[in-house]
Amino acid sequence: MGKFNVLNAKGVSRRDFMKLMAVTTAAFGLPATVAPQAAKAVGEALEKPPVIWLSGMECTGCTTSTISTIKPSAADLILDKLSIRYHEVIMAGTGDVAEEAYAETLKEAAGKYILIVEGSVPPDASKDDYCIVAGKPFRETVLEAAAQAKAVVAVGSCACDGAGIPGASEITQAIGVRDLLKNNGIATPVINLPCCPVKSQTVIGTLTYFLTYGEVPPLDSQGRPLAYYGMLLHDNCPRRGRFENGEFLKDWNDPAQKDYCLLLKGCKGPKTYTDCASVWFNDNANFCLNAGSPCSGCSETGFYAKFNPLYVKNDDFHVPGVVGQVSPDLIGAGVGVVAAGYLAFSTVGNIARGRIGKKSKEHGGDK
Ligand code: SF4
Repeated sequence: MGKFNVLNAKGVSRRDFMKLMAVTTAAFGLPATVAPQAAKAVGEALEKPPVIWLSGMECTGCTTSTISTIKPSAADLILDKLSIRYHEVIMAGTGDVAEEAYAETLKEAAGKYILIVEGSVPPDASKDDYCIVAGKPFRETVLEAAAQAKAVVAVGSCACDGAGIPGASEITQAIGVRDLLKNNGIATPVINLPCCPVKSQTVIGTLTYFLTYGEVPPLDSQGRPLAYYGMLLHDNCPRRGRFENGEFLKDWNDPAQKDYCLLLKGCKGPKTYTDCASVWFNDNANFCLNAGSPCSGCSETGFYAKFNPLYVKNDDFHVPGVVGQVSPDLIGAGVGVVAAGYLAFSTVGNIARGRIGKKSKEHGGDK
């Protein structure tokens, strides 16, 4: 059976498939001519490149987001075509059968499989009790699997830097996969795909790029693909016009303010790099700011602890490009002037950083 016949049998039309490839290659800024090459690479994935998906300290939200949202579905393209050999949430096997599948993959596909990690990791043996899977410290399993992987993909904020919800207190001292490998001298490349949860398009696009080119996509200093995390949310926000006009929401109960800028309600958009304004969650159904919620900054290092409380104004909020701290009250009072000032500085800053006028190569996110 040809690969597109196989896809058809799964309810995925050739048109849907090619459309996804076109969107994916466009997201990476690649020419349209690459789409067939990407399609071929994923088609060859019908030969099932092995994937091990480990779940540590997390809520399973990233699995849910990845497998339930896109058409053609992520379940078709990732779970079936990529042959996930081990995933505690979706695999049919349990107990010893499941653990044997993991052990066999390590043995048979050493150096060939992609390791996906969801969730944060205890930092050392003294904290191992916070995450034991199948009677074994999760930290040891990640180290074992990462050492023989072709590449590691950390999905969701917890896996990227350990600072998600499981690591928000001092108790677990959870860390991300990249730091764990670095601390233990393992050089396997790590691609960070933060957000709480990660978007399915981000996971699929990144894996497609890796299958197509056999290398990790261009990353920023936080290890995130520039294709998905190379843009400042604030620059693309649907409420940006309100910001420029100095219209800031102060009263949640006032219908007239419902589309106003949410800066005074704790929005982290001016310091958060993500494509959320253009690529939405749940099959492009919606995203935080469009649903009336301020951005919580979940794609940035340090989320959640560094950015809480999420829905109240930040005292002395730092506006990128403006020297010193700017109080939200001052912004609310002197709105037009401050917003105009911000725009001027932001534009100059963007040009200086290469975000306007030429392609950005790398950034670490403005803090
Ligand atoms: Fe949008 Fe937030 Fe920026 Fe306001 S502060 S324009 S709500 S990203």
